[in-house]
Amino acid sequence: MSTHAQPRDPVYWDVHDTTRTRPPVVDPGPAPAAPQPAPDDATVLFDGDDLGGWEHPDGSSPEWVVRDGYFQVEPGTGAIQTTEGFGDVQLHIEWMSPPSIEGDGQGRGNSGVFLMGTYEVQVLDSYENPTYADGQAAAIYGQYPPLANAMRPPGEWQVYDIIFRRPHFDDDGTVVKPAVLTVYHNGVLVQDHVELTGPTGHYERPPYEAHAAQLPLRLQDHSNPVRFRNVWVRELE
Ligand code: MG
Repeated sequence: MSTHAQPRDPVYWDVHDTTRTRPPVVDPGPAPAAPQPAPDDATVLFDGDDLGGWEHPDGSSPEWVVRDGYFQVEPGTGAIQTTEGFGDVQLHIEWMSPPSIEGDGQGRGNSGVFLMGTYEVQVLDSYENPTYADGQAAAIYGQYPPLANAMRPPGEWQVYDIIFRRPHFDDDGTVVKPAVLTVYHNGVLVQDHVELTGPTGHYERPPYEAHAAQLPLRLQDHSNPVRFRNVWVRELE
């Protein structure tokens, strides 16, 4: 089978199947010198100063570091999430894997953007750092490899623009409309309106479980000091 003939549908593949072809590398060009301002109807979740709209899932104040206009995973303190819940959103988030390379594969610059705390767009230093295709940067973790590897080198800012449509459930809790994701990585289309099989997982694809229409946006502590800045959402109808 030629690489182009490989099906995208996760149903054809085992989770983290290493025979899935990794996508082509695309140089997205240099990072913008400064973060672009948010649109005026956006809810700004981090403007460079403090983590006021964030908490650990147990409700405690974030122990992640805020410095020089960004915040950074404090390894071992756990995930953080927004105090507010969201459903359908356009999300802008910028991230940087640690400038000095440590570890490899899934152990290098790993974090994650969890829509509704449940559906992960992978954050990983995938610059010349091979791993299973459905776990590299901008993968829908364990389900969809990105269409391209649009990484800038570690120590440079990466930009995700994400369009997320939440799943819908009937009164019995059966999914009637799956979650759908579109993702741009540094301006390059990497997920084109893909339907999720359910929550993302490590070596598993759990089935949908009915949940609220709005849930917090969560960022993962995967023990690597990944930085974030310029985080905003626009809530969609
Ligand atoms: Mg991750």
